[in-house]
Amino acid sequence: MPRQFFVGGNFKMNPTSREQKENIVKILNDADVDPNTEVVIAPPSLYILPLANILRKDFKVAAQNAYIKTSGAFTGEISPAQLVDAEVPYVILGHSERRTLFGETSELVAQKTRAAIDAGLSVILCIGETLVEREAGQCTQVIEKQLQAVVQVTKEADWSKIVIAYEPVWAIGTGKVATTAQAQEAHSDIRKFLRQAVSSAVAENTRVIYGGSVTAGNCSDLAGQPDVDGFLVGGASLKPEFVNIINSRR
Ligand code: PEP
Repeated sequence: MPRQFFVGGNFKMNPTSREQKENIVKILNDADVDPNTEVVIAPPSLYILPLANILRKDFKVAAQNAYIKTSGAFTGEISPAQLVDAEVPYVILGHSERRTLFGETSELVAQKTRAAIDAGLSVILCIGETLVEREAGQCTQVIEKQLQAVVQVTKEADWSKIVIAYEPVWAIGTGKVATTAQAQEAHSDIRKFLRQAVSSAVAENTRVIYGGSVTAGNCSDLAGQPDVDGFLVGGASLKPEFVNIINSRR
């Protein structure tokens, strides 16, 4: 079965007003989109439910983070169980901003992935190398290490709940998009790793999406690569061009 094209919008800590949020939703709700693409919008946690209430029903919502525990004295955190209870189907985990600004290790991201799947969530698992790592020729090694931590705590069946977002750190929010060859090579390496570390079926069926300065101008070429199954979009997900990105395979 072909892998369903997937486009996620990571709003990060935007927008900052109810009015801006409603404007974005209006653009999405009015858009003519490819019905074969799975679209998932990740607003800040405060806006997930109000946005879900007004968002078209063929689009899903995601949280941008979740903790490893179900409940308790963890001020400021959201639990996977709470997201499930609120009918939020997806969570983004391991985003590079969480790893670099908030010190999340690959082991913590793996534990969060385990907790999210156990609670019944699907996970958009972000991995990717820094510029220094790429220039040192360590791209494959870094990605494999990030994935290995997750492989260690997951079962084969869990992978149907995971979408891998390959997001080179040097491409996030910088305007420097990976070339089609760089993206294809990394995605193919990820699939090769999954084949060896988990199974051929998981390697074939797991969606590997690209993130990092995706725009309406560069999405079609990237979407044409055989191992690119969609996008995780930051900045451009807040603009009308997000609709072009959703439709990049049409
Ligand atoms: C992201 O934050 O996941 C991202 C890919 O950001 P941008 O599209 O702005 O580079």
